[in-house]
Amino acid sequence: MSAFDVIIVGGGHAGAEAAAASARLGVATALVTHKAATIGEMSCNPAIGGLGKGHLVREIDALDGIMGRIADRGGIQFRVLNRRKGPAVRGPRAQQDRKLYREAMQAELSATPDLTIVEGEVDDLVVRDGRVEGVILLDGRRIDSKAVVLTTGTFLRGLIHRGEETIPAGRAGEKPVLGLSLRLEALGLRLGRLKTGTPARLDANSIDFSILTRQEGDPHPEPFSALTGAITNPQVACFETRTTPEAHRIITDNLSRSALYSGRIQSRGPRYCPSIEDKVVRFADKDTHLVFLEPEGLDDSTIYPNGVSSSLPEDVQLAFLQAMPGLGDVVIKRAGYAIEYDHVDPRELSPTLMLRALPGLYLAGQINGTTGYEEAAGQGLIAGANAALAVLGRAPLILSRTNSYLGVMIDDLIARGVTEPYRMFTSRAEFRLHLRVDNADQRLTELGIACGLVGEERAAHHRRRMEGLASARHLLQSLTTTPSQARKAGVNVNADGVRRSAFDLMSYPTTGRGDLESVWPEISALDSGVYDQLAIDAQYAVYLDRQQADIDAVKRDESRAIPDWLDYALLPGLSNEMKQKLIAARPQTVAQAQRIEGVTPAALTLILAVIRRGR
Ligand code: FAD
Repeated sequence: MSAFDVIIVGGGHAGAEAAAASARLGVATALVTHKAATIGEMSCNPAIGGLGKGHLVREIDALDGIMGRIADRGGIQFRVLNRRKGPAVRGPRAQQDRKLYREAMQAELSATPDLTIVEGEVDDLVVRDGRVEGVILLDGRRIDSKAVVLTTGTFLRGLIHRGEETIPAGRAGEKPVLGLSLRLEALGLRLGRLKTGTPARLDANSIDFSILTRQEGDPHPEPFSALTGAITNPQVACFETRTTPEAHRIITDNLSRSALYSGRIQSRGPRYCPSIEDKVVRFADKDTHLVFLEPEGLDDSTIYPNGVSSSLPEDVQLAFLQAMPGLGDVVIKRAGYAIEYDHVDPRELSPTLMLRALPGLYLAGQINGTTGYEEAAGQGLIAGANAALAVLGRAPLILSRTNSYLGVMIDDLIARGVTEPYRMFTSRAEFRLHLRVDNADQRLTELGIACGLVGEERAAHHRRRMEGLASARHLLQSLTTTPSQARKAGVNVNADGVRRSAFDLMSYPTTGRGDLESVWPEISALDSGVYDQLAIDAQYAVYLDRQQADIDAVKRDESRAIPDWLDYALLPGLSNEMKQKLIAARPQTVAQAQRIEGVTPAALTLILAVIRRGR
C-alpha cells in the first residue's frame, strides 16, 4: 500500500481523536482499524463526560478535537453534575444515543481531508534502525509511515470472563489481538495486565418504569462544544432503582462462581468503578446500592444498568437483577462480563506520548493503563498531534499540570505509572480552581492555534470570544465606585474607603448583575455569556493570585530536565529503596521526580546539585 506520514492503529476513542488531530495538521494520515463500522463504538456505558471527565472533553474541544462536537450530536440527556457546588468541580455529562454517536463519528472522520480509513488488523510493526516506520497487517499488507500511534484499547491479548467461561476476545463478539503484544514484548517494553467490566444490557420492554424514580436532564441542555449552537435531539429520562438485601444474598451465595472471586482473574480493576460482587464484599455493611437505568438510544429498547457490572454467570446475573425494584420480570439482552488485557507501562513514555526508547511510536488510550472514553480521547489528541508535529519538524505540543487536566493526566501516567486502571478525578488536579470547564478555551486554544492544530472556524470563533471578554473586562474594570455606593447597591463590602471596580464587586458571590446595573446601566448591554464568564473569572481571580507562586514553582520544576546521563545507582546519599524507585520511574523533569512516592526533599536537593554540577 502507499505510504502515509502517520498511521493510527485502532478506531476507538483514542484512535478517532488521534486520526482527526494528525489530519488537522495537514499530514497524510491512515486510520487502520478492524472494522470501519465499529469506529466510535462505546464498549461500555453510553455517556460522555461527568466529574473530571467533562473537563477533559472541554479541553479536547478547546484544542479543536472532535469528541465534544460528536457528543453534542449524539446526546439525549444533558446534565451538569455538581451544579450546586462551585464552578471548578462541575462536570458536564451527556447520555448518548450509541448509534447516533457512532454514526456522527464515522461521518466526521470520513469527511476529514488527509485521512484514509483502512480496514484490517495490525499484526506487527516495521522497525528500522531503532525507529518505527510502519505496520504489517495480519493479511500481509505493509504500510510505511514516519510515525505510528497505537490505540488498541482492551484488545491486546484480551480475555473475557463470565462465570466459569473464559473467551479470548477484544470486546464482546470481537477477536483479541495477539501479534502486537508479542512485538511490544520483544522490543523490551514492560507490559502489565489490567481488567475492567461491564454490566448486562436489559430489555426496556421488560422493565416496570412506573414504580421507579425518574431522573430528568437539565431543562436547558448545555453543549460540550463551543461550536455547537443548540442541542437538537429529543431529551429522555433515566430511572433509578436499587440493589436489595435479596440481590446481595444471591450474589454472596454465588461468589465461588464469579470469575473474580474464584481466582481466575488476577489483574487489578478500577477501584472507583467496582463490579457489583466487589461492592457487596467490600461494603458488606451496606444492604443497598443505587443503580441508574440509562437508555442506550432513542429508537433502541436497550437499557444500561449503571452500577452493576459483573463477571458472575448469566443465570446469577438474571437472578440478582430480578430481585431489584422494577426488574422483577427483566429480560437480559446481553450478559455482563469482565475483560483482562495487556497494557504498556506508561512510564516508558515521554510527555508527547512517544515511547522514549522507540522513536516514531506513540501510544494512547487504554493501552497506557487508563480507562474511560474521555481519558482515551485526550491522549489520542496529544499523541496524534505530536506524531504529526514531529513529521512536520515542528516543536511538540506538551501540556502542563498548571494549564490542563490533560497535562495532569499525562504527567501522572508518565511519572507514576499505574497499578490499576487510571481515570480522571478533579482531586488529581492541584490547581483545579484555575482548571475549570468554563475556561478551557482561555487556557488552551491559543496553544492549539500556535501549533496549527486549531482550524480556521474555531480560531475565528475564539478570537471573537476573546475580544468580547477583553473589552467587557476593560469596561468592568474601568467603572469604579466607593464602598458606600456599593453598599447602597446591595454589595456588602468593607467600609474601608477603597474604590472598587465593577469587576472587583463581581468577585463577591452574592453580587447580582442587577445590583451592578443599578449603579452602571451600561452593564446591561453586555452579552450574558460574556458577563457570566467574567463573573466566574472574577470570583476565582483571588484564588489564582494566591496560587500563582505555586504555579510558577511547578512550571520551573517542569522545565528542569533530568539529563539521561544521571545514574541514580551511583548517587551517594540515596537509600537503596529510593534508587530503585527513581530507576524504575526514570523521571524526565524535577517536577516528576518530586511526585514519585517517597522521594524526599533531601533527595531532590541532591539531584538538583548533581544536575547543576554537570556530568
Ligand atoms: P477502544 O475503544 O477499545 O478501541 C480500540 C479500537 O482499536 C477498536 O476499534 C479495535 O477494533 C481497534 N484495534 C485494536 N487492536 C487493533 C489492531 N491490532 N489493528 C487494528 N485495529 C485494532 N470505561 C469507563 O470509563 N468505565 C467503565 O465502566 C468501563 N467499562 C468497560 C468495560 C468493558 C467490557 C470494556 C471493553 C471497556 C470498558 N471501559 C470503561 C473502557 C472504555 O471502553 C475504554 O476506556 C475506551 O473505549 C478506551 O478507548 P481506546 O480508544 O483506548 O480503545
